[in-house]
Amino acid sequence: MIIAIDGPSGAGKSTVSKDVACEIGFSCLDTGAMYRSVAWRALHDGVAFDDAEALGKIARTCEIEFVHEPGNPSPVGVKIAGDDVTSAIRTAEIDRAVSPVSAVPAVREALVAQQQRIGRAGDYVVEGRDIGTVVFPDAELKVFLTASDEARARRRVLQNEQRGVGSTDYDQVLADIIRRDEIDSSRAASPLVPAPDAVHIDSSDLTQQEVVTRICALAREKA
Ligand code: C5P
Repeated sequence: MIIAIDGPSGAGKSTVSKDVACEIGFSCLDTGAMYRSVAWRALHDGVAFDDAEALGKIARTCEIEFVHEPGNPSPVGVKIAGDDVTSAIRTAEIDRAVSPVSAVPAVREALVAQQQRIGRAGDYVVEGRDIGTVVFPDAELKVFLTASDEARARRRVLQNEQRGVGSTDYDQVLADIIRRDEIDSSRAASPLVPAPDAVHIDSSDLTQQEVVTRICALAREKA
C-alpha cells in the first residue's frame, strides 16, 4: 500500500510521514531528499543549474542510497555516489538550488523511476510534491498537507535550530519558502498541485500528533 503525502515546504510532511510510517509499520520515502542530493552533487561538481543535460546525467548515473538503522523504518541518512550528504542537503544554499534543479524534466524522469521502483517493493509512506499526481497516481491514500506561510516558516526555523543546519532567520526562511513554492507550483514539469482525489489537511492549527492521528485513521479505513 502507498500513502502519498504532498504539499508545500514546511507543511510538516517529513515529521508527519515518519511518525505515520512508524505507527502503522510502513517504510518512509523522502523524495525531496533525492532532489536535494542531485542539487548538492551539481553544486559540488560545478554543474550549472541551466545545464539540463548534465543535471539529467547526474540524476541518471549517481546512485542515491538511503542509510538505514536496524529497527527504524525511516532512513537516518542519504548518500549520493558514495558521499554522505545527510546534513549537507539541508543548508540554505541547497534550499535555493533545489527548485531550479527539480524543474528539469530529465532530472524528474530519472528520480520518478527510482521512486516507483522503491515504492513498489513494499508498504510506503511517500512524501513530496507530485506523489499523488505523477509518481503513484494509484496510491490508496493521498493527502495534501498545507499550512499558512507563517506557520510553515516558524516550523522550518525550529527544525533548522534543532538540526543545527540551515537558516534560523525567520524573515529569510519565510522569503525562501514563498519563493520555492512559486517555482514548484508554476513549473511546467509536475507542478505542485493537489491530486483531485487527495484529502486536504491544513495543519496550521493542528499539532503534529493530531495530523498523524488523522492520517493513520484514514490509512486504517483504506486498508
Ligand atoms: O520536501 P523538500 O523541501 O525537502 O523538497 C525540496 C525540493 O525538492 C522542493 O522544493 C521541490 O523543488 C523538490 N521536490 C520536487 N518533487 C518532489 C519532492 C521535492 O520537485 N516529489
